[in-house]
Amino acid sequence: MPRDRKRVDVLILGAGAAGLAAARVLSHAALRVTVIEARPRVGGRILTLHDPRSPVPLELGAEFIHGASADTLPLAQAAGLAVIELPGSHELASAGRFKPMEDFWDLVDRMNHDLARRLASRGKDFPVSAYLDSARVPAARRGLLRDFVQGFYAAHPDRLSAKSLAVETEGGGDEADEVAGKQFRIANGGDALMKWLRDGLDPDRTEVRLSTVAVSVQWKRGGVSVVCRGSSDRAPLLTLSARTALITLPLAVLKAGDVRFDPAVPGKQRALAGIETGQVFKIVLRFREAFWERAEFLKERREQTGSNGRGLNFLHAHGAEVPTWWTSLPVRSPVLTGYVGGVAAEQLLAEDPPSRLERSLVALSDVLAVPRRELEELLDASASHDWRADLFARGAYSYIGVGGNGAPRALGRPVDGTLFFAGEATDGAQIGTVSGALASGRRAAREVLRALE
Ligand SMILES: Cc1cc2nc3c(=O)[nH]c(=O)nc-3n(C[C@H](O)[C@H](O)[C@H](O)COP(=O)(O)OP(=O)(O)OC[C@H]3O[C@@H](n4cnc5c(N)ncnc54)[C@H](O)[C@@H]3O)c2cc1C
Repeated sequence: MPRDRKRVDVLILGAGAAGLAAARVLSHAALRVTVIEARPRVGGRILTLHDPRSPVPLELGAEFIHGASADTLPLAQAAGLAVIELPGSHELASAGRFKPMEDFWDLVDRMNHDLARRLASRGKDFPVSAYLDSARVPAARRGLLRDFVQGFYAAHPDRLSAKSLAVETEGGGDEADEVAGKQFRIANGGDALMKWLRDGLDPDRTEVRLSTVAVSVQWKRGGVSVVCRGSSDRAPLLTLSARTALITLPLAVLKAGDVRFDPAVPGKQRALAGIETGQVFKIVLRFREAFWERAEFLKERREQTGSNGRGLNFLHAHGAEVPTWWTSLPVRSPVLTGYVGGVAAEQLLAEDPPSRLERSLVALSDVLAVPRRELEELLDASASHDWRADLFARGAYSYIGVGGNGAPRALGRPVDGTLFFAGEATDGAQIGTVSGALASGRRAAREVLRALE
């Protein structure tokens, strides 16, 4: 088997947000770094489609920067990218009528506070479904909460830790932070941020090897060898070696055992078991025109007079197979995105792609009260990526399982000053997000620097 004779300081497995953020810190600290990435591109679960026929970039993976995060927004601004704030208006669609959901966030807030109260009285973690089954809120609102939990956290409510949500509310919401609670999007596309991170690596000390799949990691204190193959099965194996390795592989890839560790890494199996992989179905539809912008369209559907100059941003419809839809507002374009997570997403992902599109159109037809045939006539193109079937992701993003609140930290803990771990699943506070991935990459890079001092 060919062996790359060069022994670097750090091998980073994975060139997603976590791997690139780590590489940036290490490369600036004058370490020799090789990044091993299975795909022919960087960015991992940030996947932007630049279709010349679409006026906006199409995000098939991560899209929103959640405002409370201290990680992505300043980085995007440092990169000189155009960051736009979403109006963030949410409307409830039911029987062809749209109603503002102003009190929806109060409902979510109440759930999170109730969870904290119940935890205090029970003394131990429990599944969020136990709350949803018994909460003293009207059935329709309970349905919305269930949709929210499945969509936002991509979670099975009966596996999602109540403690993980309750903790988030108590610790995470910084009222003083004026961007908390707001959502942003990178107008250039999320991939521009990943490209900026990659372009900022010192070319003399850092190499990014694309289309290189890590197969196994042999390690002992002070030394690591990673066996890799090319992306085609016939490509020869190659061994790369380093003083340390920083693993940023997705949770589900680690759980599947796609990369063998020899010897097995102590303490990680339990950590992996405490975190769940969430599934999402996201579909982007490009129409010939933004028919939802027409004044009469909104006038017929909105109950509040005077609100028709306001564009449509988020729509939620409990009971629809794809219950959440959004426009590209504040940019007005003929693009709509459908989103569903958790159990319902798994059901849709079990269908073949044409059937997923068909079901999405049926759902949208219900939500907008526009005949399905009319939608089909107006539709120009659709795009979606199956993250569950993608072998270098095996899922969308992570959430904390019942009793698993210590698991992200345990997963991220270094081993013998030689193996280091990052990735969204290792950041308990911002799990499942780009910000969590970036923060974890920087945290792990600092740990490597301390170990190699
Ligand atoms: C549909 C969808 C919507 C989302 N929406 C949002 C959102 O709006 N806002 C938000 O903040 N987050 C969102 N997320 C989550 C966000 O995308 C992730 O949390 C984040 O991008 C994860 O970064 P990471 O570096 O931890 O992992 P990844 O980006 O997955 O990086 C890991 C890298 O490892 C590589 N790899 C895998 N196996 C191997 C191997 N054997 N050898 C070498 N390399 C390998 C992968 O190709 C990948 O590039 C969304 C995700 C999805 C799927």
